[in-house]
Amino acid sequence: MATHKLLLLPGDGIGVEVMAEVKRLVAFLDKSGLAAFEIEEDLVGGSAYDAHGVAITDAAMDRAQAADAVIFGAVGGPKWADVPYAARPEAGLLRLRKELGLFANLRPAVCYPALADASSLKRELVEGLDIMIVRELTGGVYFGEPKEIVTLENGQKRAVDTQVYSTFEIERIARVAFELAKARRNKVTSSEKHNVMKSGVLWKQVVTALHKAEYPAVALEHMLADNCGMQLVRTPKQFDVIVCDNLFGDMLSDVAAMLTGSLGMLPSASLGAPDAKTGKRKAMYEPVHGSAPDIAGKGLANPIATLASVGMALRYSFGLSEAADRLDGAIASVLGQGLRTKDIAGPGTNAVSTTEMGTAIVEAM
Ligand code: ATP
Ligand code: MG
Repeated sequence: MATHKLLLLPGDGIGVEVMAEVKRLVAFLDKSGLAAFEIEEDLVGGSAYDAHGVAITDAAMDRAQAADAVIFGAVGGPKWADVPYAARPEAGLLRLRKELGLFANLRPAVCYPALADASSLKRELVEGLDIMIVRELTGGVYFGEPKEIVTLENGQKRAVDTQVYSTFEIERIARVAFELAKARRNKVTSSEKHNVMKSGVLWKQVVTALHKAEYPAVALEHMLADNCGMQLVRTPKQFDVIVCDNLFGDMLSDVAAMLTGSLGMLPSASLGAPDAKTGKRKAMYEPVHGSAPDIAGKGLANPIATLASVGMALRYSFGLSEAADRLDGAIASVLGQGLRTKDIAGPGTNAVSTTEMGTAIVEAM
């Protein structure tokens, strides 16, 4: 069996606590023969600043470049509020994203039946929900130039942000969406606003052309982004894979997240371009939540977002879908038995600790 190189970057706050559960899971996968790993660990964020004066060292970046996948915890906290801007904890995350070229952000919104009542929608609308939002992460209005606030002659100010997308950026993100859909329910919804934005016109053209040329067997629909937001809170189960630009993806993935319950449940993956020789993609997997300083060190953190992120690594970086399915099944089963960390425990329900949840999931596997 191939050995997979995994770099663990726990970071700060609850990142450290949830990563301890990742180690438990990985050790189990290794021992049970479901997967073989070579594990490394390094510092990122405030903990890297404390040790080295930077948010991530060049040596840690080299390890990230050499790894088959990076598992990232969370960074930041009040302790580092006054560190120099270039060394702030978040700079570590941004450097990883930039230097690994992680242009595709995958955020699944999965609603476990046992938690359907925690959704902002009625149970029947979300029970069994399984959506994948594919957000372009390195282009669009977040990075387009010019980007400035200028003062005009009459004293008024004018702010400019620029949305820029070129064919190759749209094509590579659309390709990720079509490939994912093939292994899911075979449907892609491409979301933009071609009625008011030129980037939306090009987006629609490029996605349509790629679909025709390479993915005719996948069902493709185009949906204006505002309508997509509305449809997500009306009948979310109509979607399989949604692909969109950086800004719409930011909003639509947060909308989808609220359909499923707690921040502590949401995993994510960020993927780079496939290597020309090996076809392997650089990849980083992380929970959607942050370092949660308010609950750090108390054993209250829900480890499921991070464990499910490892599940995404098993599926998308290592091709170990059987192990990934077992992990998903174990999470569903433990939730089904009523085990809850504090964030997902209803009033009057006893909550278990981070370690108890992690242990129960590994045992269920
Ligand atoms: P960031 O800026 O890093 O995204 P944030 O301010 O958005 O951070 P988070 O750190 O994500 O905030 O946490 C928001 C709140 O959600 C926390 O105060 C915490 O109570 C709760 N929370 C986040 N993650 C978890 C988790 N894994 N388990 C339980 N509660 C969590
Ligand atoms: Mg946040």
